[in-house]
Amino acid sequence: MLQVQQIPALSDNYIYLIHEPVTGATAAVDPAEAEAVLEVLAARAWNLTVILNTHHHSDHVGGNLALKQRTGCAIVGSHWDRERGRIPGIDRGIGDGDVIPLGRASARVLSVPGHTLGHVAYQFANEALLFCGDTLFGMGCGRLFEGSAEQMWTSLSKLRGLPPHTMVYCAHEYTEANGRFALSLEPGNADLIARMRDVEALRRHGRPTVPFTLAEEMVTNPFLRPQSPPLRAALGLMDADDGEVFAEIRRRKDGFRG
Ligand code: ZN
Ligand code: FE
Repeated sequence: MLQVQQIPALSDNYIYLIHEPVTGATAAVDPAEAEAVLEVLAARAWNLTVILNTHHHSDHVGGNLALKQRTGCAIVGSHWDRERGRIPGIDRGIGDGDVIPLGRASARVLSVPGHTLGHVAYQFANEALLFCGDTLFGMGCGRLFEGSAEQMWTSLSKLRGLPPHTMVYCAHEYTEANGRFALSLEPGNADLIARMRDVEALRRHGRPTVPFTLAEEMVTNPFLRPQSPPLRAALGLMDADDGEVFAEIRRRKDGFRG
């Protein structure tokens, strides 16, 4: 069994510690900053062995060097970002299909370009955990800073194919704002209405809406639902293919002021 500790950081980031109790191996996913991570490591008496970066943005790698200096951990990130010198302290470049051991557990690397071109996700298949950075968010997806809508749609299609009970650990608490946009497109979606009610209650109490299951996303996240007839009708795209519908949803979200 892996233990996952969620650490809120900066304004709306989440850092994750993943601890494998038999060997004590511990990973930090996207350490935005070092101090918050060091405090949790000390409190739980865990030793950081490796940092897993999903992409090069500063709110995901900001703690890399300080953590490496303080703990001697290794740093893993995509080949693409390594070649461009975009991940501070990186030791190992990885790509699609690579397997990263964490004690007795292991993560499979999924290449998911779109938000950035080197973006990767880490899937612990045996434990059904997915750490997807800024690719998939609660009821949303990452902005297209480097990749095309087509690339992002291919990446999200890959994630859509994972087991529905997969727990998704994304890197930001954006769920509530995303849900408002989702409701503007599918106001009659009963699953969406119910989830939004839960999400609003959690946020009112300052609680995280992450992680969530892929199954929840499949019925509420418009970016995973381009096949939905009501959604297509709202966009006036009844006959477009899924990738075109996705691209239009992404465009509308970029201009949405909820
Ligand atoms: Zn980012
Ligand atoms: Fe980010």
